Amino acid sequence: MSAQIIDGVLIAQKIKEELKCQIESLKKKTEKMPKVASIIVGENPATKVYIKNQCKIFDELKIPYEIVELKNDVSESELVKKIEGLNVDGDISGIMLNLPLPPQINSRKIQNKILPAKDIEGVTVENLGKLVYSEINPIVAPCTALSVIECLKETKVDLKGRETVIVGHSEIVGKPVLLMLLSSLTNSVTPTVCHIATNNLSGHTKKADILIVAVGKAGLINGEMVKDDSIIIDVGINRIKIFDDNGTAIIDDKTGKPKTKLVGDVDYDSVSQKASFITPVPGGVGSVTTILLIKNLLNLFKLHIGEEVEGYKFYESRS
Ligand code: NAD
Repeated sequence: MSAQIIDGVLIAQKIKEELKCQIESLKKKTEKMPKVASIIVGENPATKVYIKNQCKIFDELKIPYEIVELKNDVSESELVKKIEGLNVDGDISGIMLNLPLPPQINSRKIQNKILPAKDIEGVTVENLGKLVYSEINPIVAPCTALSVIECLKETKVDLKGRETVIVGHSEIVGKPVLLMLLSSLTNSVTPTVCHIATNNLSGHTKKADILIVAVGKAGLINGEMVKDDSIIIDVGINRIKIFDDNGTAIIDDKTGKPKTKLVGDVDYDSVSQKASFITPVPGGVGSVTTILLIKNLLNLFKLHIGEEVEGYKFYESRS
């Protein structure tokens, strides 16, 4: 039997509609809309694509923004000065720092220069720290981790106690997902986290009712490594060459370069035969992340203007 697809585009659309209503009601209460400053350092093709997607959604929701472009050889102190300026700029409600940064910059140190009240990516120590406390419903959190939760909610499956394996333990995906999935005092999943040093990866993945993979290695998980009827959330984004039946890379006539496509970390064809639900790549987790950036922004802005903000409840279904 083939798995049901968890459609990230559809999830993003539903969240966007909710946010449009919030924006309308905010417009009635305040003259000002929250403005975003998105910082990009140097020329990175992947970041450019991400920025283009951000701008598209800002334009659609009529959210003002400014792209702050800095040269690849910018010094750490210049970047800090720029961020400090944005921190005190009354026109700016949200700051994001697009990664990767060039090697002379310590990303973690610089991210923490962003004022937590303007940290729309939820990556400062203060905002990440709030994920530890079950009694706090954080109002910002890392968007990819939030996107994983939204994809799980879409299945409407009761998560209580379920064997859940997270492959990948990065600060931006694996670790925040773990904390979100442990946030309920009574209904949390039973998690295992695997990483580069894990022995016998398939021994763990085969036991998973819910398998979340965020590594960055195409084909890491195949059909033999997953349990029947499991839920598969594939966070990985990998660009691979396309080969013909003889194993030769297909060349693009226009560019003269090998043709490529995006895939996840999960071998979709074999895994979707066994799973009950699966996120595709593209069109899964990655399709939900940018709209959640806007949700973080609106939450911070509402708090700033004295509105009540409910905060994220990772175990409560979407209305
Ligand atoms: P990262 O490089 O920071 O972390 C990779 C993790 O994978 C580490 O925990 C590492 O220990 C683990 N790992 C590496 N090799 C492994 C192996 N053989 N077996 C088990 N674990 C292994 O990566 P990241 O930033 O968390 O990103 C992971 C993937 O998710 C990448 O493909 C990235 O492009 C993608 N990503 C997608 C989105 C999105 O919006 N969909 C956002 C961020 C990252």
